[in-house]
Amino acid sequence: MLVLVINCGSSSVKYDLIETSDNSDVCKGLIERIGAVTSIVKHEPAGQKATKDSKNIANHVEALKEIMNYLMNPENRIIESPSDIKAVGHRVVHGGEMFKDSVQIDEKVLEAIEQAIDLAPLHNPPNLRGIQAAMEHLPNVPHVAVFDTAFHHSLPPEAYLYGIPNRFYRRYKIRRYGFHGTSHYYVSRQYYKLTDKPVEQTKVISCHLGNGASVTAINGGKSVDTSMGFTPLSGLVMGTRCGDIDPSIMFYLVEKEELPLNNLHALLNRHSGLLGLSGYAADMRDLITEAQNGDRRCQQAIDVFCYRIKQFIGSYTAVMNGCDAILFTAGIGENAPLIRKKAVSELSYLGIELDDARNEAVTRGKIEKISTDASRTDIYVIPTNEELVIAIDTAKIAQAASQSPWI
Ligand code: ADP
Repeated sequence: MLVLVINCGSSSVKYDLIETSDNSDVCKGLIERIGAVTSIVKHEPAGQKATKDSKNIANHVEALKEIMNYLMNPENRIIESPSDIKAVGHRVVHGGEMFKDSVQIDEKVLEAIEQAIDLAPLHNPPNLRGIQAAMEHLPNVPHVAVFDTAFHHSLPPEAYLYGIPNRFYRRYKIRRYGFHGTSHYYVSRQYYKLTDKPVEQTKVISCHLGNGASVTAINGGKSVDTSMGFTPLSGLVMGTRCGDIDPSIMFYLVEKEELPLNNLHALLNRHSGLLGLSGYAADMRDLITEAQNGDRRCQQAIDVFCYRIKQFIGSYTAVMNGCDAILFTAGIGENAPLIRKKAVSELSYLGIELDDARNEAVTRGKIEKISTDASRTDIYVIPTNEELVIAIDTAKIAQAASQSPWI
C-alpha cells in the first residue's frame, strides 16, 4: 500500500511516501520556513538527486498542495494522481491518556487531539493543521494518527506519577507521558530480530539522541520508564532544551531576572541545553569541532550531555534489574562515536564494555554492534525509522477499515 507520511512542525512539513508491501521509500522531502518570505522545498525521490527550491508558501494547506504538485510533476512523476495514495499517516506528538494505539482520524479523534493542545501547545497545533490540510487535499482516503506518546502507555504508576498532590493528576492529568515512542519502539524491535532471547525476557535501554533526546527502559517489549515527562522538556540535556532541572531554579530566575513566564518558557525550551551551556551552538557537530579546538565551554556541554545519558543508563539498569542491550539512535546516537563512548565509559561494574574499534568503524545507516564480545550487555547503533513505523501502522489500520463489514 502506498502511504504518505506527514510530520508537521510549526513552520515545516516533512513528508515521506512509503510502499508498505516492501517497506521501500518512494520519495521524501521537507518544506521549511512556511509563512516566511521564502520557504524552502527539498524534494528527494528515491535513488535520485535531491532538488532544493525557494518558494512562497504561506501555510500548511499550501504546503500540502505543493507536495502533491511535486509528486505529480510531469517532468518527474512519482504518482499519476492523488488516488494512487491509499492512506495518510500523521505523526501526532501528544495523545494524552486517551490514545494507547494509532487510530483512524474522525471528528472525535480530531476533538481529542485538540483537547491535548493544553498538554503540548508547541506540537499539537501544527500537527492538527497538517491533518486538516492533508484531509483537504486527500479527502477520500483514511487518515491515521500515530502518537509519540502511545508506546509509553505501559509505564506503571510509580514511573508516571510526580510527587505533587494527587488531585493534579486526577484534575489536569499531570503525569509523565514520554515521547519519541515510535523511535524507541522501532529500534527495540530491530534489536529483537538480532537476539535469540525471547522478547518477554529481554531488557533494553534505548537512547534516542537527536536535537530532542530521550532514553527509554524497555522490559519485555514494553516501555517501563522514559526520561521525557509531562512535556518533551525533561530528562536529558538536549540541543536547546534544559532537560531535568530543580524546579526551584525557575522561581529563583523569575525573581532575580524579573522574567515573565513566557520568557522563562522560551529560555528553557529554546536557549538552554547544549546551546545554553556552550554559549556557542546547539548542533553536536559544531560542539565537537570547537571542543577539539580547545573551547572549554563546548567541552563542558558535551560532558554534561554524556553524563546525563550515563545516569539514565545506570538508573534504568536498576529499574529493570539488568540490561541486555543499550541501543543508540538518531542524529547524534547514529553518527557520533565520541558521544557513545563517553556515555558508556566506565560502566564495567554493570557489565557494559564498548569495543573502541567497532564504535569508530560504524557505517552510516547500518545496524552495527559496538560492544566487545565479552560484554554482558550488547551495545548497538540502530538507525531509527519513525516514518516506517507510522506507514506500517497506517497501512494496517487502513486495511482493517477497508475490510470492515460496515463500509
Ligand atoms: P531531530 O531531533 O531534529 O530529528 P536529528 O536526529 O536529525 O534531530 O539529530 C540532530 C543532531 O545530530 C544534531 O545535534 C547534529 O549535530 C547531530 N549529528 C548529525 N550528524 C552528526 C555527526 N556526524 N557527528 C555528531 N553529531 C551529528
